[in-house]
Amino acid sequence: MKCKFCEWQKNFKKIYENRHCVAVWGSPYVRGHVKVILKRHAENLTELSVEEADSLMDAWIKVGKAIESVLHPDIMNWQINCNWTRHIHGHIYPRWRTDPDWGEPIHLPTRVQADNKEYHPKPLSHEDMLKIEDLLFHKN
Ligand SMILES: [Zn+2]
Repeated sequence: MKCKFCEWQKNFKKIYENRHCVAVWGSPYVRGHVKVILKRHAENLTELSVEEADSLMDAWIKVGKAIESVLHPDIMNWQINCNWTRHIHGHIYPRWRTDPDWGEPIHLPTRVQADNKEYHPKPLSHEDMLKIEDLLFHKN
């Protein structure tokens, strides 16, 4: 069975990369959502070397700073997921007071929710996407 996260590393545009991690844009339904993915298969934080953990934090923080400087969210939510995929990965969710679930932990909206008339996510503009990518290319 193909690993979805290995496919992402090969086929998706990387917005940041360091020795052990890549960052890719996440859900189009959450403005500025990014996934920072460990390149190799590891399902628990306890499997990481200190160097890999540093690499994950490096990528997470650098991408997060670029998002903050361009999108100016009210807060940022950070989440590490593992076990359900073969790659530990960190999510970055910029949040705004206008979010439909402001004050609650973020739940990735599904396509069905995004199509619901009560949910109106503001998409990431192409211009803001390029600004963030430009910051990551030129500062690292
Ligand atoms: Zn994989």
